[in-house]
Amino acid sequence: MKVFFNGELVDQDQAKVSVFDHGLLYGDGVFEGIRAYNGRVFKLREHVDRLFFSAKAILLTIPMTHDQVCQAVLDTCRANGIRDGYVRLVVTRGPGTLGLNPFKCVNPLLFVIADKIQLYPPHMYEDGMDIITVATTRNHQNAVNPAIKSLNYLNNILAKIEAVNCGYEEAIMLNPAGYVAECTGDNIFIIRGNSLLTPPLEAGALYGITRQTAMDIASKLGLSVSEPNLTRYDLYNADECFLTGTAAEVMPVVKIDGRVIGSGKPGPVTRRIVEHYKDLTTSSGEPL
Ligand code: PMP
Repeated sequence: MKVFFNGELVDQDQAKVSVFDHGLLYGDGVFEGIRAYNGRVFKLREHVDRLFFSAKAILLTIPMTHDQVCQAVLDTCRANGIRDGYVRLVVTRGPGTLGLNPFKCVNPLLFVIADKIQLYPPHMYEDGMDIITVATTRNHQNAVNPAIKSLNYLNNILAKIEAVNCGYEEAIMLNPAGYVAECTGDNIFIIRGNSLLTPPLEAGALYGITRQTAMDIASKLGLSVSEPNLTRYDLYNADECFLTGTAAEVMPVVKIDGRVIGSGKPGPVTRRIVEHYKDLTTSSGEPL
């Protein structure tokens, strides 16, 4: 496998990160997860936009232009013959000293891996997922803003540990005010009548690229789309529920904290959104 590393494509075993890299020592860096479908990279520009926004928020200078980063993603996919796959694009603060000071890291590192991913078992997309709320709250926006897709994912990992320890694949995280924020690696939506609802970004949701795509699809389908604060009560009493994420795609949810959602099967509106999402992913994007 070829990895784009520090400006060039190298063999996978040549792509080595320093033990002094602050990405490793402190989770100081940003990343993106991007998918390719049918020989096209889906929403590439949107992902690279978000990478730059995350980097700006942590005062990290990406050592390449927006266009060059897009090109690096395409080149890495091509070098590995990827037509359907998953890309991990990472920018770390680079090597520094053992102190925290990020200003001592003068060479940020950008690398791109293009590989495959299967996040959840295929039957879950048919049967729907059973999820729970966990005690770990989503980061406060004035601590580490959840809008920043940073390399520090411990908040999410702690929540994931709770979920997996209880026998679940995914968990709902509330924000410090008690409203629904998102799941550990996915955004969450409910359908109520003719409305699609999802927590607002200020509730502690990542500005998900799939989230936006689902909202666009729902508008085209004639649903009213809104972003109100949601409580667990709202989730329990929804007609339908689903999760979105680049890796997860659109995942129906049929049970939350033991409460059956709607009919207990993936709902009709969710199914239509899934169909449209599939059409879009296989027919749009940057060609490889
Ligand atoms: N929330 C979190 C915490 C995530 O890590 C992700 C990405 N895996 C998402 C939401 C979904 O974002 P996107 O649709 O852009 O992949």
